[in-house]
Amino acid sequence: MSLSQLARSICESPTLRLNETAAQLRDKGEPVIHLGGGEPKSKAPIDAIVNCTSLLQTGDVKYTPADGIPSLKKAIIRYTEEHYDRLVAPGNVIVSNGAKQSIMVWLHAILDPREEVIFPAPYWVSYPEMVKLAGGVPVPVAAEDGGFQPTVDEIAGAVGPYTKAIILNSPNNPSGIVYTDEFVAGVVELCEKRNLYLVMDDTYNRLIFDGRSPTNCYRFSKVHNLESSKLVVINCASKMYAMTGFRIGWAVGNQELVRAMTNIQSQQTSGPAAPSQWAAVGALNGVQSSIESLRLTLENNRNVMMARLGAFPGIKVVKPGGTFYSFPDFSAYEKDSAKLSRLLLDKVRVVTVPGREFGMEGHLRLSFCGTVKDITEGVSRIQWALDPNAPNELYLGDRKLMRDWR
Ligand code: PMP
Repeated sequence: MSLSQLARSICESPTLRLNETAAQLRDKGEPVIHLGGGEPKSKAPIDAIVNCTSLLQTGDVKYTPADGIPSLKKAIIRYTEEHYDRLVAPGNVIVSNGAKQSIMVWLHAILDPREEVIFPAPYWVSYPEMVKLAGGVPVPVAAEDGGFQPTVDEIAGAVGPYTKAIILNSPNNPSGIVYTDEFVAGVVELCEKRNLYLVMDDTYNRLIFDGRSPTNCYRFSKVHNLESSKLVVINCASKMYAMTGFRIGWAVGNQELVRAMTNIQSQQTSGPAAPSQWAAVGALNGVQSSIESLRLTLENNRNVMMARLGAFPGIKVVKPGGTFYSFPDFSAYEKDSAKLSRLLLDKVRVVTVPGREFGMEGHLRLSFCGTVKDITEGVSRIQWALDPNAPNELYLGDRKLMRDWR
């Protein structure tokens, strides 16, 4: 079969592949614990469901404008005013099939072949592949000190003649850290000085812990007229409203850019599915308590996971300030994260995501979006598999395992 060079250069999404593997093993009755997941367990808000079903009941489900239905744009404008203190116009907003598509059409709208997009490592798995899909070159920047946040100077050092844009994702998938205000301010300033686009991927910014409030990147911008600004803010219903399957995300940016993104989206997929858009209208305009209750659950889960990992000798972990991911360093046990992740799945049926996929070897991404029972049992199984001082036997349900690999 002859496939394009592009198709051959793109990797499968490792996180989606792991979801499938976990589901297949569960179907076979295996006692799998999924610490690789990327979605909250909670249900979509009732207002989303009511709005969506009332559209479905009319039976009148048709194409929508390519950039989203007016009532969803209106709800997004209100959201932007409330959470970013910016009054934007409908022409500044595009609604897409998830934050992923908003980022993808943005890349298609700005990149010429071989132009570069910088992002800090560790990074969301999809950024490098998405940049490549749009014909660009991904440029990850790792912190020299081995931490999860490079310095502004390290980011500036990666800017060259082909640099077109920078992407920041805070709170961060996979590390869970919240970038400092100084770092975000410094990158906003850098982009404005060097005339670069900056995407703030705020997918997780409402899921933030320890009494902190989400970072509002506009606060650091010196360009007050949005039409002259290259700052683009991405959000979605997926995580904060636990609506991953509805596939609704959006971007806010200058109108010329949003028009170009809309043209691309109109040729690619047309507008997002109407029932999903109506669900998002319900979520955004409805009672907001589900976000706080999800946030509190995740903060508690985070504390449980930190307590378990803290009692795990040899593991280095930075406390996540948001999201539902932690990114411990397991290199004291195994430096090859893919090998380690495979071992944990094969031997103790725990799904994790290798740090290599996020641009950082020796780490595993462990999600805490599941139940407390899954978190405690999952980390215990990992510890049993790796810690030579753990007893030699472990029961998975009624199956007795003997540790014969360490
Ligand atoms: N950005 C980041 C950092 C993410 O983690 C994800 C989802 N895993 C997305 C964007 C995409 O979100 P959506 O499901 O709305 O496409």
